[in-house]
Amino acid sequence: ISYLVTVTPVRIASETMVICAFEDITEREFVTQFRRDFIANISHELRSPLTALVGIIETLEGPARDDPAARTRFLKTMKAEAARMSRLVRDLLSLSQAEARERERPEMPVDIPRLVAGVVDALRPVAKTAGVTLEIAENTPVPPIPADADQITQVVQNLVENAIKYDRRGKRVTIAVLPDDTGDMLRIDIVDQGQGIEPQHLPRLTERFYRVDPSRSRGQGGTGLGLAIVKHIIHRHRGRLGIASTLGEGTRVSVFLPRG
Ligand code: ADP
Repeated sequence: ISYLVTVTPVRIASETMVICAFEDITEREFVTQFRRDFIANISHELRSPLTALVGIIETLEGPARDDPAARTRFLKTMKAEAARMSRLVRDLLSLSQAEARERERPEMPVDIPRLVAGVVDALRPVAKTAGVTLEIAENTPVPPIPADADQITQVVQNLVENAIKYDRRGKRVTIAVLPDDTGDMLRIDIVDQGQGIEPQHLPRLTERFYRVDPSRSRGQGGTGLGLAIVKHIIHRHRGRLGIASTLGEGTRVSVFLPRG
């Protein structure tokens, strides 16, 4: 616990007293530290592609100036590094928008089974390239629920993309939409047969930039912000996120959304 102590001398009649005021600033310090860490992380994430770009530009100006083969190779790397920066900026923007809207209650009726089917169709080419089978196992028709369609699209997209990314070639990703046992929630399950996650990582997965294997995540185009965005959006919808995983067998991510 941190305190801010303000000491004020006061004169009462002929006596001088000091008044000490104590203010609990634990929360404020925590927020300041959180911001500082977040900015340090962003700087670090932006610096590595920038360093790579500057290095390549210098090589292209100098030693590789008259080497067409090297030029083609370097241009490809430059494009990939620029794409990485652009994904990071896109996710930072999504995160800040998700945070800004967290207090507004979503009200538009959204047909979730249809939305999920649309996202899955859009991701079929990505799954095919990764050699992963994408399948909707169950898509129970349920009445529309109050939601923000763009945001729920982003949630499902991030989770299915992760399931594909962390799956293994030739494996399957299964998606299901079903009413939860309690009846007042709608449940979206995304199940993969990938490497799984060790239990000690589970509580930290939704933290910004937290990754189990940073080089694998970066290598596959991950920004480390996907699950943080998902968390904020689900929170805005007064929903819940569940992650269950068995190492070597796979992961099940469940999104629970209130039906009314
Ligand atoms: P990233 O951009 O790194 O994928 P996320 O916030 O989406 O960032 O996920 C955070 C981390 O959680 C990932 O780096 C990965 O280690 C782990 N993770 C997320 N989804 C899965 C999954 N389906 N299987 C295994 N690990 C996963």
